[in-house]
Amino acid sequence: MEGKRKKNIAEICPVSRRNILKGLAAAGALASIPAGLFKAEAWERTKFQSGLKTFRNACPRNCYDTCSIKTYVKDGAIEFVEGAKESTFTDGALCVKGFSYPRRVYSPDRIKYPMIQDKRGSGNWRRISWDEALNIISDKILEIQKKDGSLLGMALDKYSGNFGITHYGVEGMFSSLGYTTRFVGTPCWPAGIDAQNFDMGNMWCNDPEDMVKAKYIIVWGANPAWNSVHSMKFIYKAQENGAKLIVIDPVLTQTAAKADTYIRVKTGQDGALALGMAKHIVEKGLVDKKFLADNTKGYEEFKAYLDKNVTVKWAAKVSGVSEKVIRTVAEQYAKADPATIWIGYGMQRHTNGGASVRAIDALAALTGNIGKEGGGARYGHLATWGFNYNAMVQKQPAGSKGYTGKDKIKSEFANAEGEATSYSDRTININKIAESILTTNEPPIRLLWVACKNPFAQDFDRNKMKKAFDKLEMVVTVDQFFNETVQNSDIVLPCTTLFEEYTVNVSYWHYWLSINEKAIPNQYEAKSDLEIAALLSAKMNSKVQGSCTFPQITDTKVWMEKEFNDGIYKFFGISSWEELKNGPKKAILSSSASWSDKKFATPSGKYEFKSDLAKEYGHTALPEYKEGRKPYNKFRILTPHTQFALHSQFNNLDYMQEFNKEPLVYINPASAKAKGIKDGDMVRVFNKTGEVKVKARTTDNIAADVLLMYEAWYKDSSFNVQELVDDTSSDMGTFKTGAPGVAIHDQFGDIMKI
Ligand code: SF4
Repeated sequence: MEGKRKKNIAEICPVSRRNILKGLAAAGALASIPAGLFKAEAWERTKFQSGLKTFRNACPRNCYDTCSIKTYVKDGAIEFVEGAKESTFTDGALCVKGFSYPRRVYSPDRIKYPMIQDKRGSGNWRRISWDEALNIISDKILEIQKKDGSLLGMALDKYSGNFGITHYGVEGMFSSLGYTTRFVGTPCWPAGIDAQNFDMGNMWCNDPEDMVKAKYIIVWGANPAWNSVHSMKFIYKAQENGAKLIVIDPVLTQTAAKADTYIRVKTGQDGALALGMAKHIVEKGLVDKKFLADNTKGYEEFKAYLDKNVTVKWAAKVSGVSEKVIRTVAEQYAKADPATIWIGYGMQRHTNGGASVRAIDALAALTGNIGKEGGGARYGHLATWGFNYNAMVQKQPAGSKGYTGKDKIKSEFANAEGEATSYSDRTININKIAESILTTNEPPIRLLWVACKNPFAQDFDRNKMKKAFDKLEMVVTVDQFFNETVQNSDIVLPCTTLFEEYTVNVSYWHYWLSINEKAIPNQYEAKSDLEIAALLSAKMNSKVQGSCTFPQITDTKVWMEKEFNDGIYKFFGISSWEELKNGPKKAILSSSASWSDKKFATPSGKYEFKSDLAKEYGHTALPEYKEGRKPYNKFRILTPHTQFALHSQFNNLDYMQEFNKEPLVYINPASAKAKGIKDGDMVRVFNKTGEVKVKARTTDNIAADVLLMYEAWYKDSSFNVQELVDDTSSDMGTFKTGAPGVAIHDQFGDIMKI
């Protein structure tokens, strides 16, 4: 197999095996052995250590894998963690980030007490008591209420730093105070969500464990070898069974290095490649006629579009992939049964990202691979997220005044809604936070509460963000470390890690359910989001009775219990949440395939090549080619995730910095030469948004027109990729999440040796 792989990679991508290895080493991939999946066999240690208590935990980070964790505690302190063996997905293993958790909990850098900064950004922090902090905050809330007659001047910026279900209590805390301003939508995946909703009526994917059944796997714009390490074992198993792995990506990733065939596509031109493949499949008569006749709407119109507008020659020119490769891969994909495509989130972070996802979905529909075990167009799912959202759904205090427009709070996880009234919250695109703070008036945003998020690290146009924060009257951030958002806050409240609270977790990728137990006492003076909400409620009511409706329950176990319902119990085959103390449970699925009954949730009940809903939302009804953002500078700037971090989380730990010491910009050797840059030189990367100063590393793993920097927070460095990323929107997202995503990978810039 190795020999065959080597041949195909060399055939398709003009990069030799030697250069691949050299390139991966340069990118830190070979040197960084911990980047893979580890079975620590922690249980072996139990033979030598006595007095260990075990607890069930779940990694709540915004990661495909949502690992079930077993935590070993002695005398109230975590000794070590391991992946839960009961889950066939986690399968006893954690990634390098998961194994760093004890270092995170006991990091000397953790924020230990509530603190106040005398002048925002001055660094003059001083410790205050919880009572003092809540006094200051509640006074400000009451002041805003008095000044504006509503709390619309109070805004919440929260997202995925902790995906435990009870953490929606932060939204609940805001509702319990009144109608406020909410940043809605999602930065990560909205274009793809809408695309799959237009095509199939929902975003729903096969169980990742059924990839073992696939005969042909296309990983398109995803890098699971770094970012979903637990999925790789199913891909390897399929390869052992004879399946071919094809990786389509502008970057020769570590996943690509494991592939039978690597195809380098021009960034943002995935749609052209998919349409070229579709054209060839149709021309060769390789479509699944029965599936098309029985289960789809608009095939003839799509075929007519392809006939009139698409040639393989055109697709090759636009996508940078040769005609021969397009035809070969299209035929191999169409003839394999079943064949699956994993659609990554990176490839939809473009101004044409949703259109590209629709074109890729169409390949799966043309070949009848939807509704098939081992098949599917896999993007994600929310099928297991049917909790009560009890902590989230809170009533506004009587007499609350709010926004009188038609906006409705939406998020991809908002399965429950509060009572309908004539008032609502004011909703603003989460991907335009800086712009919105600067421009929103009547009333202006006065108080910003940041939780489970670090806008300075993961949002866009950092310079604008600084100006926006400067405009605010008060910023309260709830966090564990002194990151850049905290530095730009007035008050920081220390929050618990996952080991210090109860919650419940599910995944948007696999189908396992885990509880998260409180394994150790709260560290220092840290409190969970729910405890903070309960304490704020008590403080508000002590000042003005009835000013906050949030229940004053501080026990997170009580909150977690309230999130379960009969639907969840039935879906996971349990009669009580207590059963999860014995380990995670998997949903009872009638088939590992999504849409196995071919009853699609679209208006027609069929797979819709032609979607009137897409048209209604301003897109083409058919999955047509959409041109991307026009380059405004010499190089395209890519800022994907590293295996050592999730945004600004993890990489600041001493343990992780050993593996990932400093930020780098990767540049193709030919481009570096043309710019007079040598490996290791300090360079300036700049564009109209901002600039960073960073060390250059040459690598063949990227094309000559690309500069690549991994997104991470280096504790002792001011490096921040968001200096170079503006907030231009992706094409889709408004239908399902209330706002489009951000075209993170449609950024351009230049580079110069310092
Ligand atoms: S970061 Fe992802 S892979 Fe790593 S432990 Fe958490 S859920 Fe698992």
